[in-house]
Parts: sequence; structure tokens; C-alpha cells
Amino acid sequence: MLSATLNRASRSTRARRAVESFPLTRRVVDRFVPGETTADAVAATRRLVATGRTVTLDVLGEDVLDPAGARALCDSYLALLAALAEAGCADGADVSLKLSAMGQALPGGTTIAADHAAEICAAAAAVGCTVTLDMEDHTTVDSTLAIGAALRASYPFVGNVLQTNLRRTPGDLADLDGTGARIRLVKGAYREPESVALQRKAEVDRAYERAIDALMASDCHPMIATHDPAMLDRAVRAAGAAGRGTGDWEVQMLYGVRPALEQRMVDEGRRMRVYLPFGTDWYGYFMRRLAERPANVAFFLRALAHR
Ligand SMILES: Cc1cc2nc3c(=O)[nH]c(=O)nc-3n(C[C@H](O)[C@H](O)[C@H](O)COP(=O)(O)OP(=O)(O)OC[C@H]3O[C@@H](n4cnc5c(N)ncnc54)[C@H](O)[C@@H]3O)c2cc1C
Repeated sequence: MLSATLNRASRSTRARRAVESFPLTRRVVDRFVPGETTADAVAATRRLVATGRTVTLDVLGEDVLDPAGARALCDSYLALLAALAEAGCADGADVSLKLSAMGQALPGGTTIAADHAAEICAAAAAVGCTVTLDMEDHTTVDSTLAIGAALRASYPFVGNVLQTNLRRTPGDLADLDGTGARIRLVKGAYREPESVALQRKAEVDRAYERAIDALMASDCHPMIATHDPAMLDRAVRAAGAAGRGTGDWEVQMLYGVRPALEQRMVDEGRRMRVYLPFGTDWYGYFMRRLAERPANVAFFLRALAHR
């Protein structure tokens, strides 16, 4: 119930104004978003790389509804890639793109978003970075998978994301087997109708387990993106059964959610990538993190109460 309300609020302009205007919201947001500028992102990358982790960087922004906004976000990614290269930390880094931030929802948006993403891929290729297309709500899945496939023709390092709450995902995973694509597996962060998505957490978890097995057995590069230790144990077993070495798959977690579990992965010698969002447009991302875990709302309210 609370989670559904927060998910709705993540797309409400009124709720956005209210949350953004709380003076101490920023202190709580810092737990999940380590800064607003490209320099902050590069500094956070350096810190994480020094601890044996790699990163995927996200310039915050989504649901962009004007061409200038999409252009500006594309330019922010180009500036980020240049700054990473300049700082000597581009090699092995990844950037995560939301196609809605690249203009996907504009008239003719598929072409606009694909063109912006291609520009970013060219810049990423030049500095040794990879690119992953985040997955948004179910209405965007066909377009995002199609753009991923088209980009891979020139940039084989382009990854897609599959959400196990969606009923279509086993079919999408079977279609991607044979492409060798980098595939990030997530449970799904968007509130979706029953016609297209599993509603009960236990069902989504079972679907996630089945998808781990299928992904590990495929020729794709699995990126197991979860903070759920039971899923990580399952991934370790499935990787072993599929004969994959530690370099043949990776674990991903969101910045600030479970640093101790990240450390356990590093200590076990696993490839650990942290999703590092930065920028001023943190509202939608932050609200989805609250929706995933109602205890975070209590944390948020406590911080406000102690201001
Ligand atoms: C690297 C990465 C990239 C992602 N990209 C996408 C994407 O492109 N599209 C998309 O729809 N979703 C994406 N997600 C979000 C994902 O779909 C889930 O909503 C999110 O990861 C929570 O699910 P979980 O697998 O961690 O398991 P859950 O069962 O939800 O959580 C397991 C445990 O993790 C901890 N936990 C989980 N979330 C939080 C939180 N917010 N705060 C504090 N503790 C928490 C809790 O201890 C919880 O008990 C991504 C997640 C990760 C890790």
C-alpha cells in the first residue's frame, strides 16, 4: 500500500515539489546519490575503484519531454565520459542510460533516443567504457530492447536490462540467448498492472531464480543486480553449474543500499559493480528507493524530525 503510494508519488509534480522543498531532504538523499556534479561522480568512482569495485554511472533524469532537455542530458553523458578519461578511470567503467531521458517519449522519440544513445556509445567506445540501457515501465520495453539490439550491431558492449516481475521476461531472455549481450537482471522497480506483471513478491522472487538459471546457461554476460543474499547464493551456484569463472559474470548493487553485502562480494573475489547515480534531478530515483523498502521512509522521517 505504502509502496504503491510512493511509486505513484514518484511521478507526481505536487509530491515532487513537497519532497524537494524539505530543507533536510538532501541529507537523506545523500545516502543514495553521492553528489550533483560530474566532479562528484568522478570522485565517487575513484573511491569505489580503490576498494576493488567497478561502477556504472547514471546521470539522473527521466521522462524528459522537450528536445532541448534530451540534448542536455546527452551532453552531460559526453562530459562525464570525457571527465572519466581525463581522470584515468574510464577503462572498465559503464554508464547506465534511461532512454526516457534521451527523448524516447517525444514524437519520433525512438529515433531521437537511439541517436543520442549512439552518440554516447561512440564516446564510450573511444575511452574504454561500456553502456547499459536501463529498463523503465512496461510500455517502453519493446522500444528499449529494439534500440539495444540495433546499437549492438556497431557497439557489442551495449547491455539491456530484464525485469523478472514482467510476465514477458522469460521469452525476452530466450530471444537474447545467442546474442552474447550483457544482460542485467533485476526484479523491477515500477508499479505495473496485473495483466503484464506478477504482483506478489514471492512470485517475482521465484521468477528471478528461474531467470538466473536461464541467464547463466545462456551465452549472454550475466549482471545479477540485486541486494537479496538468497539470489546471490543462487547466482553463485548457477554460475558454477554453467561452468562460469568469476570473470564471466558480475554482481551489481545500487549505491548506498547494502555496502556490507558489496564488501562480502569483493572479499569472495566476485566482480562487484556499483550503480552510481548523480545530478540534481534525483526525485524519481529517490522515491523508487523509498518504495522498495518502507523502512527507508522511517529513516527519511527520522532524519527530518532531527533537523
Ligand atoms: C544495479 C541495479 C540496477 C537496476 N536497474 C534497474 C532498471 O534498469 N530497471 C528497473 O526496473 N529496476 C532496476 N533496479 C531496481 C530493481 O528492479 C529492484 O527494484 C531493486 O533492486 C530492489 O530489489 P532487490 O533485488 O534488491 O530485492 P528485494 O527483495 O526488493 O530486496 C532484498 C533486500 O535488499 C535490501 N534493499 C532492497 N532495496 C532496498 C532499498 N531501496 N533500500 C534499502 N534496502 C534495500 C533490503 O534489505 C531487502 O530486504 C536496479 C537495481 C540494481 C541493484
